[in-house]
Amino acid sequence: MAPENKRLRIAIIGGGLAGAILVNALMKYPHIDVHIYESAPKFSERGAAVGLAKNSQNALDEIGHSVKDALVRAGAVPMNSTRGTVASGPNAGQIIFDLVADVPPRGVHRAAFLKQLLAPVPKEVMHNNKKLVKVEDAGDGGVVLFFKDGSEEYADLLVGADGVHGHVREHILGADHPALEPTFAGFWDCRTLLPLSKAKEVLGEEYFKEHRRYIWSGDGGMFMHDVLDNGTMVQCVASKVTDEDWDPKEWKRDLDREALENAFASWTNSPIVKNMIELLLQNPELQAFAQWDHHVDAPTFHRGRVCMVGDAAHAMTPYHGAGAGQAIEDVMILETLLGEVKKPSQLDAAVKAYDEVRRPRAQLVVQSSNSTGRIMCGQGPDVGLDVDKLRAALGSRWDFLHEFNQKEHKKRALRSFRKN
Ligand SMILES: Cc1cc2nc3c(=O)[nH]c(=O)nc-3n(C[C@H](O)[C@H](O)[C@H](O)COP(=O)(O)OP(=O)(O)OC[C@H]3O[C@@H](n4cnc5c(N)ncnc54)[C@H](O)[C@@H]3O)c2cc1C
Repeated sequence: MAPENKRLRIAIIGGGLAGAILVNALMKYPHIDVHIYESAPKFSERGAAVGLAKNSQNALDEIGHSVKDALVRAGAVPMNSTRGTVASGPNAGQIIFDLVADVPPRGVHRAAFLKQLLAPVPKEVMHNNKKLVKVEDAGDGGVVLFFKDGSEEYADLLVGADGVHGHVREHILGADHPALEPTFAGFWDCRTLLPLSKAKEVLGEEYFKEHRRYIWSGDGGMFMHDVLDNGTMVQCVASKVTDEDWDPKEWKRDLDREALENAFASWTNSPIVKNMIELLLQNPELQAFAQWDHHVDAPTFHRGRVCMVGDAAHAMTPYHGAGAGQAIEDVMILETLLGEVKKPSQLDAAVKAYDEVRRPRAQLVVQSSNSTGRIMCGQGPDVGLDVDKLRAALGSRWDFLHEFNQKEHKKRALRSFRKN
């Protein structure tokens, strides 16, 4: 047990982007003793890139230099604009929108970002091969963590950053809660990273004259490509709406040329299909990943001295490009509150304030992302692939997300903390 005048012991479960940003953020507080536990043999990120828009970058600025610098060191590329184009049907070739942001979104390779985030973290606070299997109240307000290898740790506060398939959500909500499991969102996607020269050769030079993200909307699906790694690599993504059932245990399926061609066979007037399929197949291990989200809202993000951040709290589809950004906002609020907590007895008010401020916004993004995906894939009700209707439906769809005052968000959290 930590006496009232000792450093606060904070345990983070999960070494993905949410956990890595949080450990970085908390290291700056001398009154906090933070440790991070990852179930995998090493801290690593799979998958291609994440795009961090204005709200995410502003939240990184609020957290501090060490995390914002990590983004730059990881070779994040600012995108001058995001261009959406209809790519199937009678309106094929017409531009839906060309969004130019005052703070350009930055695309970053996940593995590179994680590596840079973890570079300044002392080895003695990073623990790998530590799978959390049980949490119990310690009897003094704190918690005891039980790991698969038989070891135990005490913490004044446990933060679950253990992703969509982690354990902490179950501890908070209970094993039978209807919001516990993520729901299959009705889409799959596949992704490939390849050198810029190859993407230019197949798609054409004109798409790479400036750093722009391209989105191609068609019949029940979409393609996306953007540039990362200091402009040397290109990420290609295909997303598809599907009526098929995916078993909750089935995260991915093998994908070959035939399956990919069949998925986009209904697109008409569309040269982009052939070229994107060509690029996607450059990945010899191409797989379709099911998209899951927490469609049923959790009634709380905390229970006692245990709370959750990132995908553990609010897994979402990628159509707002916002999952990591919402994790960054979670971290910004939580670290602001924990910076104010000087003794364990204040932690309850801090996690309550965190929940009050973060849950409504993050859950709104989860719901909005799913319906945005339907629209981008040509399946918006009364929208379809009509370019004018797509323009009306998508043009301002990201405003609530990106034009968000992070300083005010922090102030609200602090007000709530002081009143709790
Ligand atoms: C295709 C796709 C595109 C996306 N694009 C964007 C984008 O452009 N912009 C954006 O902001 N977001 C995007 N996202 C979302 C973003 O990638 C996620 O929201 C973010 O990476 C989640 O990070 P996390 O740390 O919360 O979870 P995770 O990355 O899942 O990390 C959880 C970690 O916890 C560990 N763990 C799990 N269980 C345990 C346990 N019991 N004990 C110990 N450790 C455990 C895991 O091994 C893992 O390392 C996208 C997602 C997808 C799928």
